[in-house]
Amino acid sequence: MELLKDRIMKDGKVRKGNVLKVDSFLNHQMDIKLFEEIGKEFKRRFSDCDITKILTIESSGIGIACIAAQSFGVPVVFAKKNTTKNIDGALYSAQIESFTHGKTYNVIVSRDYLKPEDNILIIDDFLAKGKALVGLSQIVKKSGATLCGAGIVIEKGFQEGGKILRDAGMRIESLAIIKEMTDDGKIIFE
Ligand code: 5GP
Repeated sequence: MELLKDRIMKDGKVRKGNVLKVDSFLNHQMDIKLFEEIGKEFKRRFSDCDITKILTIESSGIGIACIAAQSFGVPVVFAKKNTTKNIDGALYSAQIESFTHGKTYNVIVSRDYLKPEDNILIIDDFLAKGKALVGLSQIVKKSGATLCGAGIVIEKGFQEGGKILRDAGMRIESLAIIKEMTDDGKIIFE
């Protein structure tokens, strides 16, 4: 998606540890016009799927998922990062190691909001090592719903997540795939 790549080139900042900062339009301040275009592009790419629900993870996936959901006309469910245990069985849960914080979170979704008849599209801002997507897809599996695929805004193609998950059969549509980020701040797309 050229509009997105241009914006990453203009405003993205390469940080230590293979982190791309896009706080000025995606992760802190949010450019809603751009989000609308991102949402339309996800809808175009998944137009062959009868999506009934979008699943994302708090916090930075929520804004993108909500705007995308307007193009799909479906609700958004976000997985919550939680510290309490799943005692009463009313929740689906998974362990997700955060790429940016290094912590492992127990993430939960209420059983009320994912049903076996749902066709799920996962949406997230970044794909790096794939931990978030693995955890979210485990939750979808536990619910008995069908996972149609994942829509990712920025995939860091030089990290392993995309390859591992595509090899495992997951459909992933990434709107910008970064091939390389150099120490002096250059960003090269696939
Ligand atoms: P993964 O689980 O694929 O290793 O990492 C994806 C998650 O980590 C995303 O939900 C995103 O919030 C965060 N993340 C991974 N890489 C980056 C990055 O380069 N920049 C930012 N801002 N977030 C990232």
